[in-house]
Amino acid sequence: MKKSLVWFRRDLRLHDHVALAQATKNSDAVFGIFIFDPAILDKLEDKTDQRVQFIHDSLIEMEETLNSHESSLEIRFGAPKEEILDFCKKNNITDVFVNKDYEPQAKKRDEEVSKILAKENITLHSHIDSVVFEASSTLKDDGTPYKVFTPYMRKWMSVLNQYGGEVALHSPNLKKMAKRNNPRSITKIDWMKEIGFNKSPPHFKAGTIAAKKQLKEFSNKISDYGKMRDFPAADGTSNTSVYIRHGNISVRDMVRAGKDGDTDGHHKWLAEVVWREFYQCILDQFPYVTKGSFKPQYDEIKWRGTNAEFEAWKKGETGFPIVDSAMRCLKATGTMPNRLRMVVASFLCKTLLIDWRKGEAWFAAKLLDFDLAANNGGWQWSASSGVDAQPYFRIFNPYSQSEKFDKDGVFIRTWCPELSNIEGKYIHAPHTMTPMDQQLHGCIIGEDYPAPIVDYSKKRMEALEMYKEAVKAP
Ligand SMILES: Cc1cc2nc3c(=O)[nH]c(=O)nc-3n(C[C@H](O)[C@H](O)[C@H](O)COP(=O)(O)OP(=O)(O)OC[C@H]3O[C@@H](n4cnc5c(N)ncnc54)[C@H](O)[C@@H]3O)c2cc1C
Repeated sequence: MKKSLVWFRRDLRLHDHVALAQATKNSDAVFGIFIFDPAILDKLEDKTDQRVQFIHDSLIEMEETLNSHESSLEIRFGAPKEEILDFCKKNNITDVFVNKDYEPQAKKRDEEVSKILAKENITLHSHIDSVVFEASSTLKDDGTPYKVFTPYMRKWMSVLNQYGGEVALHSPNLKKMAKRNNPRSITKIDWMKEIGFNKSPPHFKAGTIAAKKQLKEFSNKISDYGKMRDFPAADGTSNTSVYIRHGNISVRDMVRAGKDGDTDGHHKWLAEVVWREFYQCILDQFPYVTKGSFKPQYDEIKWRGTNAEFEAWKKGETGFPIVDSAMRCLKATGTMPNRLRMVVASFLCKTLLIDWRKGEAWFAAKLLDFDLAANNGGWQWSASSGVDAQPYFRIFNPYSQSEKFDKDGVFIRTWCPELSNIEGKYIHAPHTMTPMDQQLHGCIIGEDYPAPIVDYSKKRMEALEMYKEAVKAP
């Protein structure tokens, strides 16, 4: 009787799952395991981190489905290389199935686990699941990876067309899940307490049911995506990033939704899903981006911003309403619309003149959908140091971005209630109100809401000079 183990990591679902489908196809009995890894958890300073609860709740849903097949999910807390080996030995497992993870630490971990298992004649099978195509399938004709998105996307589509223009469905046979009643399952123990975290209901409901509902609801308005996506108060995007990050839905579920119509919205949305994949490939092929700039000359920049300015940015107290509302939204919900991620990132690097790595780290600590590849890609794009990034002399003006994308100040008023009585264009630059207007609108600048901590126009010139010094040529 061939017994296998599926090790779940960032793929917390039981449908359209390559490793699970392969395991159930090639084995007589399949066990599932999830390991809370102290090497990851110890780095999380906030012991009420919503992401841990999100994972916990996703596991509960998986466990309930497995219970209906008289099976269960093994939960462990410890070093994966020890826990996996221990489980395999105790249950006579000969094969372990995983979906590949392209983050440098994860690659190192999997190599170690593979070697340890091999010594015991246990095989680790790694499958492609979190992306549709790995970097090796989308190389240029000269065999090197694409560094510009548009030709990458073209190549990606041409490879998809070779497969008939559709992504495969990898359905596991859950009847093959091993019959077991597991006393240490996610439902039988207070695992949050066990791993040292407090309960903290996440802003998004976890699990595949919620994820599919979210994607389905978005499908009804996907045709407007291109028109609506940049307006933070309009809720015109899918809000699926947290689900794809934790694997409650598959990337193929996303691609199917994008290919389910022929409108501009469908095309634009699919392109965003491919951006995600592009950054995964960049991280896989150029892992040094986690430490420094993709374009090394950008590491020569002499950043000039102060700690006090960085703290004001984090707290949402810069005196620039569009920036402050976005940063407060991030802190309260663990999310931020893409347009505003670009605005606050540009503001940090090119208005406050603060190193993008500091912003990247703050986002990594706060974002519910934090994904190393997408976050690093987004920050390096904004700082102009990354692949296919905007040129350094393109600097987002926080006032005009605000006027264009939050014209009536709906988003600003939601997160900066002290500005809620301000009318007209003053909502974008409240410091320009006369003292009498400040009285009239119940918002005294410097008391109720900060004056801008820097002068945007002056800082713009300084940023150009700072970048030019390091980069020499545009
Ligand atoms: C500075 C910065 C940091 C970012 N950090 C992250 C991060 O940690 N995790 C993350 O998932 N996204 C990140 N993004 C990308 C983007 O902001 C989010 O994916 C998007 O806001 C998620 O909302 P949504 O699901 O409604 O996206 P939609 O607009 O509905 O897009 C659909 C999906 O495509 C993918 N996607 C969309 N835009 C991008 C993009 N620019 N880069 C990569 N993938 C994209 C996401 O998986 C998203 O769920 C970052 C962007 C910037 C500028």
